[in-house]
Amino acid sequence: MATGKDQIIARDGVHESPWQSGLTPIKTNSTADPRTVYDVLIIGGGITGMTSALMLQNAGKKCLLIEAETIGFGTTAGTSAHINTFADTTYTEAQSAFGKEGAQLFADAVNEGFAIIKENIKTYKIACDFAIKKSYVYAETEGQVKQLEDLCKGMREVGLDCTYTDEVPIPVPHQMGVVMENQAQFHPLRYLQGLQKGYGKAGGQVLEHTRIDSVKIENKIHLAKSGDQTFKALKVIYATHVPPGITIFSFRCAPYRSYVLGVKLKDENYPHALIYDLQEPYHYFRTHIIDGQKYLLVGGNDHKTGHDDPEKAFASLERYVRKYYKVASVDYRWSSQYYIPVDGLPYIGHIDGIYCATGFNGNGMMLGSISAKILSDLILDKKTKYEKVFSPSRIKPIDGFAEFVKENADVAYHFVADRFKVHETDSVKRLSPGTGKVVEVDGEKVAAYKDESGQLHSLNPVCTHAGCIVNWNGEEKSWDCPCHGARFDIDGKVLAGPATRGLEQIKAKSHE
Ligand SMILES: Cc1cc2nc3c(=O)[nH]c(=O)nc-3n(C[C@H](O)[C@H](O)[C@H](O)COP(=O)(O)OP(=O)(O)OC[C@H]3O[C@@H](n4cnc5c(N)ncnc54)[C@H](O)[C@@H]3O)c2cc1C
Repeated sequence: MATGKDQIIARDGVHESPWQSGLTPIKTNSTADPRTVYDVLIIGGGITGMTSALMLQNAGKKCLLIEAETIGFGTTAGTSAHINTFADTTYTEAQSAFGKEGAQLFADAVNEGFAIIKENIKTYKIACDFAIKKSYVYAETEGQVKQLEDLCKGMREVGLDCTYTDEVPIPVPHQMGVVMENQAQFHPLRYLQGLQKGYGKAGGQVLEHTRIDSVKIENKIHLAKSGDQTFKALKVIYATHVPPGITIFSFRCAPYRSYVLGVKLKDENYPHALIYDLQEPYHYFRTHIIDGQKYLLVGGNDHKTGHDDPEKAFASLERYVRKYYKVASVDYRWSSQYYIPVDGLPYIGHIDGIYCATGFNGNGMMLGSISAKILSDLILDKKTKYEKVFSPSRIKPIDGFAEFVKENADVAYHFVADRFKVHETDSVKRLSPGTGKVVEVDGEKVAAYKDESGQLHSLNPVCTHAGCIVNWNGEEKSWDCPCHGARFDIDGKVLAGPATRGLEQIKAKSHE
């Protein structure tokens, strides 16, 4: 597991992403004074938190950024780092749910997020492999041709370019494609570290290895607790990808796992563009040079967290890439998590006294960046045109309702089925080293993992967030909750929220 060791930047899974490769953590004013009342406490050190911290510190606010592990530990280290002017929720979909104005605001936000990244790279001279690319989306079937037409129509209606083409640089047979100019790609962790340096220089403080358990407000001061420590601030931002605890976001954001391979080819057939298909779940392709070596990055095969077998998802992705490319070796394989908002647009703003930004789908590079601007504007009492459309307390439009019901019915199913159905009755003795399983021992469910040395790590499998039963993720060696996406390591420690408490450890001896 890439944990808090100093030699490599850490991530919330055992598979190393190419962004971690050769990158060591940097330190930034690593103190926090519990007596100080900070102007703004930013919780979470991914692209959203770090961009917000930098903007607010530059605006004259005294900021403290607190990260549960180390900077970049969350999805920002597991992303695939495309920077697009279009998004997973198409502008046509946004228009049908939020009207013309809503779709335009969404497009403006995505594009402004893109511009913020470009501006930061320029201002802080961040060497992060930023490169302008063309994006292609292609259709393989008649149905997908229709989808492509919708995608293009929606883009044009919000003033973005989208051109039909027969020449998509991909060896997959296709009927039609569209091309978007002036898209981009970058190295997300080098970018993040560039922001971190800028933030440090501006006097911002960072406290790592500190998970905030709760925030309460007393006499207009926010008290953020981590174990027996308390930090004080006038304003608090949850930049934790999904806010911790049981919140409305537990019902409005559905967690998904997504898979990526870094592949060396036998030939030079690496694409010079960002390329996406329209399959369900979809695939995407791009090229990145890591440590002097060209890699084809192929991603996709997404599924709801804890619902499918990650091993099978990787295997099918590898089969897919081998079908179309001459693969010399698969050097990287990693997965990470994102959150789909039930009505298609992110939630960015103020709710219950706290600022938050979540529901970015697969577009968090741009949406995390624009969140920083929106939240900064709100905190600095400036007007922002995005306040209403992204409001976390917005009433969902009717179109989102069906999806909302579907996601919640699914959670309810897992809550009930996982707790009362006996679905594993195996002896822990039969577990092979390096594997985990929820087993039943003396009538009780146990999340058991046998490490390579044969030692058993036994946990109570009831997720501390909302009481569902966790599932084993044999690829990232984690226990993943199928209800709201909380993830835990083999010793029960929280890897990803919304849980704030780890899984309870159970004495292994009694289960052998
Ligand atoms: C495989 C994959 C590919 C993707 N590709 C793209 C892409 O090409 N383009 C794009 O735009 N987007 C992409 N995305 C989405 C994008 O990567 C994410 O939306 C984005 O990284 C989220 O950034 P964040 O800062 O909000 O969250 P994170 O990077 O997850 O950071 C949140 C941080 O908060 C910390 N934290 C959590 N809880 C607490 C707590 N209680 N106390 C203290 N700290 C806490 C975590 O440890 C973590 O470091 C992809 C996502 C996946 C999964």
